[in-house]
Amino acid sequence: MDNPLRIQYFVGSQQEGQYLTIPFDMPPEVESFSLSYHYERHHGDETGVAHGSFTARQERNIIDLGLIAPDGTQVGASGSDKSSFQISETYATPGYRACRLLPGEWRILLGAYKVAPEGVTVTYELNFAPKRLRLLKGDLHTHTLASDGVLTLNELGHQALRHGLDFLVITDHNQTISADALPCIPGLTLIPGVEWTHYKGHANFSGVDRPYDGSFMANTPEEVQAHFTCAHERGALITVNHPFDEGCPFLFDMNSLPYDCLEIWNGPMRMSNIQALGFWHSLLVAGQKVPICGGSDYHRSQLFLFLGGPTTCVYSQSAGPSDILSALRQGHAYIVYAPDGPTLELTAGDAILGHSVRFSQSREMQIMVGNLRAGDILQIVTAQGGTPLLKAETNGNFQGHFTLDAPGFARVEVLREFVPGVPMLPALISNPIYFDAD
Ligand SMILES: [Zn+2]
Ligand SMILES: [Zn+2]
Repeated sequence: MDNPLRIQYFVGSQQEGQYLTIPFDMPPEVESFSLSYHYERHHGDETGVAHGSFTARQERNIIDLGLIAPDGTQVGASGSDKSSFQISETYATPGYRACRLLPGEWRILLGAYKVAPEGVTVTYELNFAPKRLRLLKGDLHTHTLASDGVLTLNELGHQALRHGLDFLVITDHNQTISADALPCIPGLTLIPGVEWTHYKGHANFSGVDRPYDGSFMANTPEEVQAHFTCAHERGALITVNHPFDEGCPFLFDMNSLPYDCLEIWNGPMRMSNIQALGFWHSLLVAGQKVPICGGSDYHRSQLFLFLGGPTTCVYSQSAGPSDILSALRQGHAYIVYAPDGPTLELTAGDAILGHSVRFSQSREMQIMVGNLRAGDILQIVTAQGGTPLLKAETNGNFQGHFTLDAPGFARVEVLREFVPGVPMLPALISNPIYFDAD
């Protein structure tokens, strides 16, 4: 990436009154783009006066600024008021809109409002901040006042920030919300979603404004199928929610409906989540590669119910919704009971959580777990069962490795005694790394 990229453009006086565009290439994998420009706007005539010198300010040139996306849409226009702007998928300088920085030919809009007889040279400086892998913590399942929650969007967002979350998906029951309607809260990525809620099961459609046309209603298997298919085609991340919930289990045929993730951890850890974990494990043993996620299903704070309980930790290329959802789709994630729960880095060579490697070429994993508490049990789970690696004597971190003796998958669990005398429960559950047979 050429950083910064400098572009100089000469505007002749005969171009006064015209709109021009200057093309440039947006490189791939850019998280944030900023542009600044300058030109000789004022012409200063210096004259001597009684007590010093005086420089007259006379506007010689006025050059307007704007930006056009590769598809021809206007990303922003700021007249001659701003000398710079910044854009990412989650933030934009007012006057511009937050959007994905897709690679391709973008154009600077140059409005030649006023040009001096000798013309003017305009200098643009373009900065491209590249994406980089980072760990983001979020909650994929939340409700607001728009359905049966008690907080407004704004209140929920600020609470998420205070709890140390980086992103939040808004999933009100059968209420879609568009990205434009989400408040801008610096430091927090808000993602539109809906919890498609039916008497026979719930599923989150996340990341798109309108996952389906018309209403949520569906009375036949064909209508249910149509909603899922449409949401999937429009790019929504589909999660099957609380499949074994005591009140609203998922009774549709999961094999016939498209989905991306299984919500195996919904709210506080309890029997229905343990059942979902067991069900998912059986899919892995059967050779399926199904990513998991968790969500608090937050409505209001109560005993054991809080935002980020559980938290889904995602290895994402940027803080933008599209990268977060893409990482979830690929299983680059693990779930912890709370935002300040244990942390995990699991790798096999260059492979991270959710990746597949060939067993014949790679069978050793490196494991780093932080934030362990005294008494925690760290175990690797494969198709053959669980292998304890550590029972923590004190609070601390673990670093080690594990070698697989057969193809399949390997995932990590941290078990904790949350309440003395009550059986240990998961504090962390990860997606696997898959080790494919040749
Ligand atoms: Zn639900
Ligand atoms: Zn819910």
